[in-house]
Amino acid sequence: MVPMLRELLTKQGIKKLLAKIRIGGRTPASILKENRNNTKAALKRNFRDSVMADVDSATFAQSLGRVVKSRKRQTLSTLRNIMSSVRGEARAVLATGKGYWLSRGVLDSGTTDICARLKGARYHMSYSQVPMKPPRVPPPHPCRSFLVWVPEGTRPPTEETFEQEWRNNPELQRDLLGKSKFEAFERGELGRIETYAQYEKVVTKTLEDLNIEK
Ligand SMILES: [Zn+2]
Repeated sequence: MVPMLRELLTKQGIKKLLAKIRIGGRTPASILKENRNNTKAALKRNFRDSVMADVDSATFAQSLGRVVKSRKRQTLSTLRNIMSSVRGEARAVLATGKGYWLSRGVLDSGTTDICARLKGARYHMSYSQVPMKPPRVPPPHPCRSFLVWVPEGTRPPTEETFEQEWRNNPELQRDLLGKSKFEAFERGELGRIETYAQYEKVVTKTLEDLNIEK
């Protein structure tokens, strides 16, 4: 049976979802802690400045009120961000159940190194936990890579890895290596390129490093 959103958003359920959430790579707990520390620092600063300036109590009360108000606003927006991630995570659980994220994309000279390396990679985790993720939908990311959710038990879309696409595809090899390196590769001067790591080694070196004349 598929659970309902409000069944997931019980106290226990929220606790479970919170444990999985990362906002900008950080846990909600550490974000809240930083927020608390910022509030403490702001109150301290205000107190110190007021003492230094020798203000009267009415002025102090006024500035304290301003600090408290601004920190409240900040805290509220932090909490809103966290809760919206919780709801997003809950929706992802409802929508997807079990499965994995598959990294897809077009491989050519317009593809970024990271996306080329991760092409065809599978991630058995929630979207927010996928490291270095391209967007969920095609194709706003400039290099046209994206993640699709593949539910457990369904056939994944055909998606070749870098190695699979590279193999036996001279046109792609020429596009990715550039003319001079490709010609050197064809002459056997660059050694074998069968994995992304081997490819990376070659492309990060200049023709001079490789002892190849232009
Ligand atoms: Zn990319």
